[in-house]
Amino acid sequence: MSKARRPLIAGNWKMNNGGQDGIDLARAIAAECRGGNAVEVVVAPPASVLHRVSETIEKAAPGRVGIAAQNLSPEPNGAFTGELSASMLLDAGCQWVIIGHSERRQLFGETDESVRAKTAAALKAGLLPIVCIGETLAERDAGRTLEVVYRQLDAFSSVINSKPGAAAIAYEPVWAIGNGKVATTEQAQEVHAAIRQRLTAVSPELSQKTRILYGGSVKADNAPGLLSQPDIAGALVGGASLKIDTFMGIVSAARQTA
Ligand code: PEP
Repeated sequence: MSKARRPLIAGNWKMNNGGQDGIDLARAIAAECRGGNAVEVVVAPPASVLHRVSETIEKAAPGRVGIAAQNLSPEPNGAFTGELSASMLLDAGCQWVIIGHSERRQLFGETDESVRAKTAAALKAGLLPIVCIGETLAERDAGRTLEVVYRQLDAFSSVINSKPGAAAIAYEPVWAIGNGKVATTEQAQEVHAAIRQRLTAVSPELSQKTRILYGGSVKADNAPGLLSQPDIAGALVGGASLKIDTFMGIVSAARQTA
């Protein structure tokens, strides 16, 4: 982790903790984050509890834990049943939004073009995007990791250059998500360094300021190795973000390297 970039640990609850369990978890995380802000902590609850989680955190530890939505519409309003716009997410208490998660790309038809449009809409409205990219196992095995990652990155890199450092990028190898198969620190650092190098071609400022998170089976025990890599500025955490002890174990590891 470079000292130039404040570490960011974001927990993606996916379609879990959508009721009182989410409120209780948010309160517990806020209590653990009251003390300091060397590490930026963000939680991404389901839409059903965004507002209540935001109120809970603001009461328990104002400004200490950010709130992210898991998706947004690129449209500002209109006949888009089931969608939420950037301004609606801001109203619900979000500062952040996850865009282009591999589950949305694989299960809900999200494309590089929709990721670009959503990233632009988020930044325009003042929401901070965490944009996800990463290759499948078949793509890695075919030696196509960087080709895929560059294609996904190139779709939105000029968009995030409008506000260098506002957006974070999450490199999440799809083969390492939700199954305990973490990338080695060397595999992760290699791709992170390549992403940072690619951003330099867009602008050196963007490359220097953008936090690139690693995601894929991050746990308290593998976090220290990953977070000590120079181009890994934090983590996007799925399964381990659903319980206070496992999530705070990762935040503590980030605090040690910050
Ligand atoms: C994710 O889905 O973004 C993720 C990284 O999940 P997990 O930590 O469970 O692999």
